[in-house]
Amino acid sequence: MQTNSPFESLGLDPALVRAVQGLGYEAPTPIQREAIPAVLASKDVVGTAQTGSGKTAAFLLPILQRLMKQPAGRTRALVLSPTRELAAQTESALRGLAKGTRIRGVAVYGGVGMAPQEHALRAGVDVVVATPGRLLDHMGRRNVDFRGVQVLVLDEADRMLDMGFLPDVRRIVDALPKERQTLLFSATMPPEIEALSRSIMRHPVRISVSPPHRPPAKIRHEVYPVPSHLKTSLLTTLLGREDMMSVLVFVRTKRRADRVARQVAQAGFPVARIHGDRSQSQRETALAGFRSGEHQVLVATDVAARGIDVLGISHVINYDVPGIPTDYIHRVGRTARAEAEGEAVTLVSPEEEPDLRGIEKALGRSIPRVTLPDFDYRAPPPPKPARHEAARHPRGPPRGRGWDRGRRPSPRR
Ligand code: AMP
Repeated sequence: MQTNSPFESLGLDPALVRAVQGLGYEAPTPIQREAIPAVLASKDVVGTAQTGSGKTAAFLLPILQRLMKQPAGRTRALVLSPTRELAAQTESALRGLAKGTRIRGVAVYGGVGMAPQEHALRAGVDVVVATPGRLLDHMGRRNVDFRGVQVLVLDEADRMLDMGFLPDVRRIVDALPKERQTLLFSATMPPEIEALSRSIMRHPVRISVSPPHRPPAKIRHEVYPVPSHLKTSLLTTLLGREDMMSVLVFVRTKRRADRVARQVAQAGFPVARIHGDRSQSQRETALAGFRSGEHQVLVATDVAARGIDVLGISHVINYDVPGIPTDYIHRVGRTARAEAEGEAVTLVSPEEEPDLRGIEKALGRSIPRVTLPDFDYRAPPPPKPARHEAARHPRGPPRGRGWDRGRRPSPRR
């Protein structure tokens, strides 16, 4: 079949070309253009790539091509991901890309039952996408046989480092065949990751699609200076804007995520929230509602939001300024995915100015300050709730019927 797809000229099998066309990808992204031929040539690859660059397909497509030509029956590729969300998303990307093949994958992460994962692992599923901790549990129970693993992928390696997973990663790598292909992807390349790559890879090809420490170019950054006590009121004012169609709001802590989500709901916006204390099924429901557009707003903490893959996020709002510049870059990378346009808004209180300056330094430029002409920046802090009120509702007022399940009041276009 003549497809004339630019994916074909990368050397991909027609079944995979049809799959990417089915997903609506018209042309490979820069990381895909560079990584796919290198991975197909069995090279080790270190890719410095932002979230949203298309790196998942950049490693999955050539892996699929390699595996589809072989007999099934044993695990032949392992992808390590820092979070369960990313593992689940990578497995779902695999499902989409593997449509025309017989390759199957399983996502292996904590917070859900071991049994279905154990079953797939013992059956020798072709591709395992796993978070390190849960995978080590399965390895300890001898549920896995990795003797047939030919390809290892370390995805978002810098985040694994941030989360303290490198010792686990090393233990897993030690249990794999030495004769294998290793691919490592990371948004930034701190020295620890450089050292890891030197110790587990052979003459890797280096691919960098945009300079490290830079978010995708098509994001518009804006800073809104505001006193702390007016952040929620400024947030809800901004959410009322016509263009705020699908908004990811970042906060520093789980408790703040609960509080901000409650206040946003009280202001009438359909909102969901994800953070580390929510169960896997709660997170999945929240994400599904955000993806489908049922929830205009998703409030999230950094770790929980890692790996969120939602096309068409129009705005990322930093309710709190992240303390580390790379977190800012990861956060805002959630908008403008796959070369679309997006906007990153940061609410900054006077106490947070030093953190913001650190971010501007990392970006290599200052971010424009915006003040809203009609917003009352002088409004006093709200009175503290009377004692008996606070005692009656220690976590805020009752939630009524499903406060975070509301519908969008009117379609926003
Ligand atoms: P990733 O950086 O792998 O998380 O991918 C970001 C998003 O871009 C995902 O939603 C992919 O489905 C999408 N994507 C990946 N490759 C392409 C492509 N070549 N064209 C359009 N969208 C893509």
